[in-house]
Amino acid sequence: MSAKTLLRSGLIHTAAALRVDEIALGLQRTCVRHGASPVMHVIEMHETPEKDEQHLRRQLEWVAQRFTLVDLKTFGHLWKEYRIDSSHWKKPPVLFTFDDGRLNNYTVAARVLESFGARGVFFVVPEFVQCRGEESRRFYYSRIDTREFPPNLPDDETRSMTAENIADLARRGHSVGSHTYSHANLASLPESQLQHEIVASAEQIAGWTGQAVDAFAWTFSWDSITPGAWKLIQRHHRYCFAPCPGSVDCRADSPGLIWRTEVETAYSAADYRFMYAGLADPLWRGKRERLKTMLKAD
Ligand SMILES: [Zn+2]
Repeated sequence: MSAKTLLRSGLIHTAAALRVDEIALGLQRTCVRHGASPVMHVIEMHETPEKDEQHLRRQLEWVAQRFTLVDLKTFGHLWKEYRIDSSHWKKPPVLFTFDDGRLNNYTVAARVLESFGARGVFFVVPEFVQCRGEESRRFYYSRIDTREFPPNLPDDETRSMTAENIADLARRGHSVGSHTYSHANLASLPESQLQHEIVASAEQIAGWTGQAVDAFAWTFSWDSITPGAWKLIQRHHRYCFAPCPGSVDCRADSPGLIWRTEVETAYSAADYRFMYAGLADPLWRGKRERLKTMLKAD
């Protein structure tokens, strides 16, 4: 275990033992009720395998007691209303997003969210959607999970949802967003490919859902983006989500650059409480500022 991992785990367990997470959440609720700080949260999840369904349910039960689960449309409206007056919100809003378009996001996550009356945003990858049989597994390990020693997952956990699944999600009130056409790293892509990865991806998804694609989430790391790619994303989408943790302050932040906090179904209660409480936010402040400067987003 690295020193950084040890330090993080020590911090999380100390915060849980001292109930710092509950104190921070209580403070957030007070600020929201008094209109002092209209904070929202966006959660970034990846795999939601069947074996973790009960974990996900327990996490959402905890979340639903402390937050209001909102869909993308409500999240968008909040930028106008909530920033002026958040006092009628007893609990801060939270939006759930899922990356990569895994089949288990369709079979597990969508169903679990719906049982809480909620709808999410599913960021899909058209080239992955079009893979068949063994191609899916190859695509998954060469484009999505590119770790040197990736886990050896069962086949059904390396499959994408289908075009029919995507259309069904849209019919059921979920939003389907773009995660590039081929899970490309936009920071290392020739300029000539941007149109395909950003514009053609949205067109393909809109062809499946029959709805405009409002949301885009770039792949890999917080800095896997360039100013040129970001500008093109903004021309074709209303919302751009970054893989960079932080609470969203709709007075200071913009729909063109939305922070997302990664929380996975396999996280322990202490781990996810730390993230939802925003206790990791200060650790990412430097990266959020660097990203804004790099994109000239201020
Ligand atoms: Zn991804």
